[in-house]
Amino acid sequence: MAGRIPEEFISEVRTSVNIVDVISQYVSLEKKGKDYIGLCPFHQEKTPSFTVNADKQFFKCFGCGKGGNVFKFLMYKDNLTFPESVERVAEFANIPMPSGYNHAGSTELSPIMRMHQDAVDFYHRVLLTTKAGERGMQYAKKRELEKDILDHFKIGYAPKADNVLITYLRDKGYQDNDLAQSGLFVQARDGQLYDRFRDRLMFPLDNENGKTIGFSGRRISDDKTEAKYMNSPETKIFIKSKVLFHFAEAKKAARSEGHLVLYEGYMDVIAAYKAGVKSGIASMGTSLTDDQIYLLRRITPNIIVNYDGDDPGVHAEERATRMFNKDGNFNLGIVVLPEKLDPDEYVKKYGVDKYREEIDGALTPTDFFLKRLEQKYNLNNDREKITYLDEAVKEIAQVRNPVEQDMYIEKLAQSAGVSAASLKANLAKERRRNNRARNHVRNTQKNFSNYPVDVPPADVPLPGDEDVPAEQTVVEKNPSQTRLLYLFIHSADAQRYMLEGKFKFPNQDFETLAQDWLKYAETHENPQIDGFLDFIPEQLQGIIVDAEMAQMPKDFTIQEINEHVRALQKRSIYFQLNELQNQLQDAKRKKDVQEIVAITQKIIEFKRILG
Ligand SMILES: [Zn+2]
Repeated sequence: MAGRIPEEFISEVRTSVNIVDVISQYVSLEKKGKDYIGLCPFHQEKTPSFTVNADKQFFKCFGCGKGGNVFKFLMYKDNLTFPESVERVAEFANIPMPSGYNHAGSTELSPIMRMHQDAVDFYHRVLLTTKAGERGMQYAKKRELEKDILDHFKIGYAPKADNVLITYLRDKGYQDNDLAQSGLFVQARDGQLYDRFRDRLMFPLDNENGKTIGFSGRRISDDKTEAKYMNSPETKIFIKSKVLFHFAEAKKAARSEGHLVLYEGYMDVIAAYKAGVKSGIASMGTSLTDDQIYLLRRITPNIIVNYDGDDPGVHAEERATRMFNKDGNFNLGIVVLPEKLDPDEYVKKYGVDKYREEIDGALTPTDFFLKRLEQKYNLNNDREKITYLDEAVKEIAQVRNPVEQDMYIEKLAQSAGVSAASLKANLAKERRRNNRARNHVRNTQKNFSNYPVDVPPADVPLPGDEDVPAEQTVVEKNPSQTRLLYLFIHSADAQRYMLEGKFKFPNQDFETLAQDWLKYAETHENPQIDGFLDFIPEQLQGIIVDAEMAQMPKDFTIQEINEHVRALQKRSIYFQLNELQNQLQDAKRKKDVQEIVAITQKIIEFKRILG
């Protein structure tokens, strides 16, 4: 580290970005009143409690309590140190770091992460520029992977020869124990490391920020004894259930395309990309996980699922659709390509424009399920037709919107040549059954979630009340102190009044913040609260953020201040009273009459003050 980054620079960086733009890269934000809200990237939630305030340039999650300014956001999100976070935001704002502070990006990464960047570069270079790579290049040509695609997806080639990668990485100074943990090598019984991937076309798998954390290698030879696809094993950084191929790039495209398109495999993502659909992603050879669904939901509710058109593909699509529906927060479109084609084959056969028409014409989940049902039954047979209609009505009963339900019923009636009225009667029956089931679930859940929660009135002291538990906001816990600190910072008049009255905050952290603010205001022209945040110790930042995000009025009266001060005094007297009562017990046990009298007198005195 080249010493502290100058404060003016930090402040320049902070003021030249809008926190909303930075956070929007990670969270889909919706404007609500003065704030923007979205799903928290730090804990899983169903209803958004993650709030960004553009005026104050703060974020705060009212679910898990995390909050701060733009630097803090990236520190949490990407596990960065403060200087790293400044550097990242500077990069976002296109402001060059002052000389001596630039870390050229990758040196701050862990060895395993760096190793992966180096491996990506190495394989890519082997493919594009070396003789050993010609084999890979021929194969890439056969799969119609042109130079721009090879570059965009950072595709490479792991040569046939033994241990080229390990030699390369050892030369770069990596240690064997790091290499062993990277997943890039296989370890023999004697401890020797060997390249895991050989004679394969290499597809890097990236994390949410576009940093490579693993690989998938496609076999090039016809040797059927080798697996067609080989993925990195799970490592510290590569957790399959949380990885989506092409996610970092796709989420950028999602903003202009308005959706993300989910595919079965990465060759489909690449085919779609060639067809101009740049928001394609794929789960890595496993069925979709809850973690992945949550990743998607943070970016957009609009998901189009386009799996292979063959039977296993459509089954998987059905499963995925059920998972999205269960979550309930998605606006889903489903594409089933004709002739059991996968997207890659379809684009080759019918071309780019036709493919995009398919995407635009995606089915709703209900249409998709109804279509699937239709194929399962022989509708020329009356008995089968009745079962089909029953099943179809059940499916329609899942739809929450009554207008939509009506629409499907009409359509079904028409195509089956039966009356809509009879189908509606069945639908009503089905809905009642669903409601009963739902109520049952809700009632059982109620028993677990309705435990009484002890929330003491603000005035009443509790033992150990002084330290605020992390999950509770400072405002709830200390309304008077929070309000007074807010006024102390935002109003010169209030501040003067408190200083003249020699008011001290009972909690040491609040008092420290008040003193720090005085120092900060003295040394900074036009002191701003978001800059102040970078000036104070990290553990105190939460108090400021809570106070700022509590939407307190700036107006106040002297009477209000007096009331808060009195409330705090009362609190502190309660504490002392509690303590005295304990002492009294002890004195009584010791039969120390003198002490009993003295303590009793004090107790009477305090009780008198409390009134
Ligand atoms: Zn949260």
